[in-house]
Amino acid sequence: MASDIELVQIVDAAVAEAVRRAGTAMVCRKGCTHCCIGPFAVTERDLERLRVGFGLLDERLKERMALRFAEARETMREEFPGNWVSGRLTSQEAADLFDLRHPWLPCPVLDLETGACSLHAWRPVACRLHGPALRVNGVDLRHCRLNYTGVGVEELRVAVELPEEEESPLTYIAWAVRP
Ligand code: SF4
Repeated sequence: MASDIELVQIVDAAVAEAVRRAGTAMVCRKGCTHCCIGPFAVTERDLERLRVGFGLLDERLKERMALRFAEARETMREEFPGNWVSGRLTSQEAADLFDLRHPWLPCPVLDLETGACSLHAWRPVACRLHGPALRVNGVDLRHCRLNYTGVGVEELRVAVELPEEEESPLTYIAWAVRP
């Protein structure tokens, strides 16, 4: 099994290549929060990575973020389609259902003033993959609709093979860095 560092390196290299190929057709930038609104499932690996990043934040930021987690949990408590105590979504169906809930709720890690990710270096793989046109393990991912305006996407798409993951129960981001 690849280490988390290797996994992140593979993902980031593919994204960097997609950004290079797209040139000015890639408009992803700090402050665009399009992909940070609405909760989504993350993996155990993401969870561990986020916890490391959270542990390195200064105390004031930790406290501010803890409040945001608490608010998000309160909002999501009702009709949570998994195990509320553990935060686990026990099937892909539950994760899909979860993705559709609370589409207006910002990620608790998102800095609402600057539009920056407070845990950018430790962000989940799903966040890293969002935006460019990628083919991951043979499956074309949907790129951000703000990118690739007026250009043909298919010739710019980058294929990447990610290592097979071990069984990875899904959790969700509000639990991910729970203090
Ligand atoms: S972890 Fe960061 S990049 Fe991912 S949704 Fe939250 S704020 Fe956005």
